[in-house]
Parts: sequence; structure tokens; C-alpha cells
Amino acid sequence: MTDHDVVIVGGGPAGCSTALFTARYGLETVVFDRGPSSIRQCAFVENYLGFPGGIDVETFYAMNRAQAERLGATVVDDLVENVTASTDGSGFSVETQEGREVTADRVVAATTYDVSYLESVLGEHVCESGGEEYLDPDLAGERGETPVDGLWLAGPTAGVESQIAVSVGHGARVGLDVVTDYRREAEDWWDDAADHTDWVVEQGRYEGEEWLETIAEHHAESAPEALDDEYVQRRARALAAEQQNWQIDTAEVDRRTERAHRRLLDHIGDETILEHVDDEAILERARDIETVRDIGVGD
Ligand SMILES: Cc1cc2nc3c(=O)[nH]c(=O)nc-3n(C[C@H](O)[C@H](O)[C@H](O)COP(=O)(O)OP(=O)(O)OC[C@H]3O[C@@H](n4cnc5c(N)ncnc54)[C@H](O)[C@@H]3O)c2cc1C
Repeated sequence: MTDHDVVIVGGGPAGCSTALFTARYGLETVVFDRGPSSIRQCAFVENYLGFPGGIDVETFYAMNRAQAERLGATVVDDLVENVTASTDGSGFSVETQEGREVTADRVVAATTYDVSYLESVLGEHVCESGGEEYLDPDLAGERGETPVDGLWLAGPTAGVESQIAVSVGHGARVGLDVVTDYRREAEDWWDDAADHTDWVVEQGRYEGEEWLETIAEHHAESAPEALDDEYVQRRARALAAEQQNWQIDTAEVDRRTERAHRRLLDHIGDETILEHVDDEAILERARDIETVRDIGVGD
């Protein structure tokens, strides 16, 4: 029995992206983040989609960590010094600079430069050049998997191009596959049914008995023939019903939109916000406050 489902080493773009998917699925996820960093060497980020004016590195870094935390991951400012695999194949032990020792079923390494902490699990694949240790760039498979079961690599550590957008995409790929792996092993789904997708859709899109029947049938078709038919029908229906939980109604969309806008503002200085508010809007708001005072609401 381990303390965590997933330990992620590195809270840069790749590690935080992985954490979003594993934490949102409900896997107990901890991210350790300290030490040599690629993202913090960028002077300014011009080429990451979604920021029309570009984004400064500290704001981007803080927003990534805040999103991972909101979705349920624990982010700890500590450096991982050692990862060891248990001899009976039941997971990993992770030791940190500040003396923490945690265990996990799965470890995702997303640290770009520092891989010394993987010496005990991937020692034969650690190469050295100019005093720096790095991993064989061909070690990880396309999904970030390594020859060690339960150990994954994300971002440039896995040999992908050193661009933020690519790291985020690869981190997401790894996160989805870690969840798929969990669904296959811990929840006993057959291969196609284990494939994880993280969607939110508008209410009504996946509704009704007919929709449920069609989707359940589709899932049942991919089940191995060896499985009992009644078991397949029951689980395929449960899987389709699970997808119905992805739906949210318009009130919930509005609530989330409000939350999203407010959370964006948390990362922007008051001065900048005030400068951008229309003078008339400020006066209007001030008049409202005066009116409330005049009529004594709240007295
Ligand atoms: C000078 C420079 C400029 C760049 N400019 C751009 C650019 O303009 N646009 C662009 O797209 N890309 C740019 N890049 C590339 C970009 O920084 C990387 O592709 C991206 O940051 C990789 O993300 P990552 O999460 O994999 O790794 P990183 O960004 O390196 O994040 C790894 C995180 O892990 C932490 N960490 C390291 N070791 C440990 C440990 N042992 N335990 C716990 N935590 C650990 C670090 O503190 C860090 O926060 C630049 C890179 C450099 C070096």
C-alpha cells in the first residue's frame, strides 16, 4: 500500500500538465518542485497559445501551479534526491532534500536537466556529458513510458522538443496515459474501455436512454470475447453513464466562467487592473456604493 497514486518530479509546464489530468481524475497526486529549471531561464514567453500579449515567466509559472492545485494536486517546494523501486514491484519510494519520504504507485519525471535522482532506477540509461547527467533521449516510448513499469518521463526529459507548448502537450499525453493505466490495472477495464478522455460538455448532449444504449453498445463491442456477456453489458452501460457526468448546465457554465475570470485577475496587479477599467464604470460603481450607504442597507 503506497501513500500516493502518482508522484510527479518537477512542477514546470510538463509536470503541471500531467498533474492536471491525474488530479482531475481523482488520483492522489503530489508534485515536488525545486531546483534547476528550464522555464525560469526564458526571458519572456511569446509563443504559448492563449496569451495575446505573450506572458511573463513568473506569472505563467504561478498560474500553472495554481491550476494544478485547484484541481486537487499537492505542490510541494522540495527537491527530489532519490527514487527507488520496491523489490516486489509494488511501487516507488521517493526521498527529498528536506527529509520527506513518500511512496507512490507511479512516478513521472519532468525535470529537463536534473536526472541524478533516477540513478537507482534507470542508472544504465543515465549518460554524462560536460559534467551534466542526462537520460538517453530514445529511452522513453511515445507515451513517455520507460522500461521500468510505473515510471514515466515527460517533456524534454522524455526526449521531446524543448518548447513550452510541446512540453505541455507531452505532459498531458503522459497524464492521460497514467490515468488509462490506472483504469486498466486498478479498475479492471479492458483496453479500449480504459482509454481516458477528459471532457466537459453541455447538458443535453449525452442525454436519454437511446444515447446511453448506443454508447454502451459501442463500448461492449471492444470487449475481449473471453469476457462474460452479462458482465460486459453491465460495465459498458456503467461506462456510458460515467460519460453523462461530463455534462454541465448553463448555470454551471456561467459559474465556472465567473470563477475563471476572477482567477485570471488574481495574477494581475491591482494597478494594471485599475488602469484598464473604464472611468465611467468606476464612477458607476462608486455611485452604487454611495446609494447603498445613503439608504442605509446593512445598517
Ligand atoms: C534560455 C531558455 C529560453 C527558452 N525560451 C523559450 C521560449 O521562449 N519559448 C518556448 O517555448 N520555450 C523556451 N525554452 C524551452 C522551455 O523552457 C522548455 O521547453 C520547458 O520549460 C520545459 O518544461 P519542463 O516542465 O519539461 O521542464 P522545466 O521547465 O525545466 O521544469 C522542470 C521543473 O522541475 C523542477 N525540478 C528540477 N529538478 C528537480 C528535482 N530533482 N526535484 C523536484 N523538482 C525539480 C525545476 O525547479 C522546474 O520547476 C527556453 C529554454 C531556455 C533554457
